Amino acid sequence: MHYAALASGSKGNCHALDDGERTLLIDAGISLRQIRQRLEGLGRRAEAVQALALTHEHSDHIGALAVILRRTDWAILATRETRKAAEKAQGIEIPNHRWIELEAGRATDWNGWRVLPFALPHDAADPVAYRVETGDCACAVVTDLGHPTALVADHLQELDLLVLEANHDVDMLREGDYPPHLKARILSRVGHLSNASMAELLAKVCSPRLRQVVLAHLSESNNHPDLARFAAEEVLRGTAVALHLAHQREPLALTTAFVKETP
Ligand SMILES: [Zn+2]
Ligand SMILES: [Zn+2]
Repeated sequence: MHYAALASGSKGNCHALDDGERTLLIDAGISLRQIRQRLEGLGRRAEAVQALALTHEHSDHIGALAVILRRTDWAILATRETRKAAEKAQGIEIPNHRWIELEAGRATDWNGWRVLPFALPHDAADPVAYRVETGDCACAVVTDLGHPTALVADHLQELDLLVLEANHDVDMLREGDYPPHLKARILSRVGHLSNASMAELLAKVCSPRLRQVVLAHLSESNNHPDLARFAAEEVLRGTAVALHLAHQREPLALTTAFVKETP
């Protein structure tokens, strides 16, 4: 499985999973042009993208949806509530024939991939994270959650690759110059995951199988990459896990064990 963080952060999020034959995107918060350019820049085929799975309707996750509906034939995977909220937020309609209905907690087969959306605490209509399994590879993309729940930890057991939010350092956020209501929102139980909460969750899901961890959705104002990295390294010390950081402007690409190479 190839994984790429095409962009990650409050200005736009897009993750790509690719088994050598087809690509599934998770979220599209950067432009379609950027999505294609960044895939090509990584040596991946932009035409291999066949579907887009949505986590929730915030604009940093669905900003390109209207253009994607017009200019591509990708299937849109989303829960009923997220579909409705995305349509309302963007003033668009996702046609029924393009929509693959998801339900949090229920796995869906997508071309032989097992796609499992699961609920997380965030201030959106029906926010989910994804666990995706293909061949013998399991990975998960988990961002935009206010605190680590037991349900989330349950879904992150026995992964090969984990993409996990490390949004802010609590002290940097508290002392920073965000307006009080925004600080309160980010710090709330349905806001974003702090470095400390990320580390707490990581400790619960770290297994001998886990090989790669990507820290994602880092705030450019309220976090420093070194702080996020130190918090994760503390947990991963003594393990063989490779730690990476996803960025807003630069894509990050990784390969895990299983890739079907096209003949
Ligand atoms: Zn977000
Ligand atoms: Zn969000």
